[in-house]
Amino acid sequence: MYATKVSDRVYMLDTYGLGQPSTVSVYLVKGPKPTLVDCGYASSYESVLRGLAEVGVMPTDVRYVIPTHVHLDHAGAAGRLLKEMPNAQVLAHEKGAPHLVDPTRLIESSTKVFGSAIMELYGLPEPIPQDRITAVREEASLDLGDGLSATLIHTPGHAPHQISVVLDRTKAMFTADAVGIVYPGMKALIPTTPPPSFNPTELVATIGTIRQTKPSELLVPHFGARKDVDWVFDRTAELVQRWVDEVKGLWKRGMSLEEVTEAMKGEVARDAGTVDLPIYAQISIRTSVMGIINYLEKTA
Ligand SMILES: [Zn+2]
Repeated sequence: MYATKVSDRVYMLDTYGLGQPSTVSVYLVKGPKPTLVDCGYASSYESVLRGLAEVGVMPTDVRYVIPTHVHLDHAGAAGRLLKEMPNAQVLAHEKGAPHLVDPTRLIESSTKVFGSAIMELYGLPEPIPQDRITAVREEASLDLGDGLSATLIHTPGHAPHQISVVLDRTKAMFTADAVGIVYPGMKALIPTTPPPSFNPTELVATIGTIRQTKPSELLVPHFGARKDVDWVFDRTAELVQRWVDEVKGLWKRGMSLEEVTEAMKGEVARDAGTVDLPIYAQISIRTSVMGIINYLEKTA
């Protein structure tokens, strides 16, 4: 099964990123103008098509595709999916749009971070024709028909060009990676602080901005719908700050990336009350540590 109904109009589609369930989700708003929020890795685009089929939406019905930011787990499949969705327009932040049109630099920088073996698992993003993209800035509203509408909000920090999406009527918020990684049933949160452009000040400010929209629930890409909105916001802001301070301390003592990663894995495992963290969580922790180190080096 790929699709789970979250509420009246909203479905979560599990992309089975890297073959694993419950790691990377995308969301569908099913209305007169079906809208896909996020796309998953290029290598898992077929999961998205299967999810759409399960809920009875034809790819040709899809009207909007919103990759919340250009990272490969969110926008990787966009180019491939658009080939199946001739009636869809892409909405993306103006700073991200050029990377969707020409992913060359994005592929280069991602390969530097993850290595070419992992890039092969992720799959490479395909270019999107410029005329299929509408660029947005600080805020934009979107009419989805039948009284449904959404607001796109710029949410920098995780990436400078990230946007989150709120459904105006229900206040359900598609957070993108503005909030940390949360797993269903796991009492731990992993800050989403990857290279190359994580900025802790902006990330914490973004939490303040999106809190003001008073979301009724959070639709988190990694992973699932959360009603404990305040806990997720509070914990994200608190842990981003704490991880930056702790990683800074360990890094200054001369620890390697792997050693710092092990230390942070220990903390997450303690919060989660388990010694066995899922492999996806372990990869995410390493990526977040890399992002913090990268930020510390840039600002040193
Ligand atoms: Zn992500």
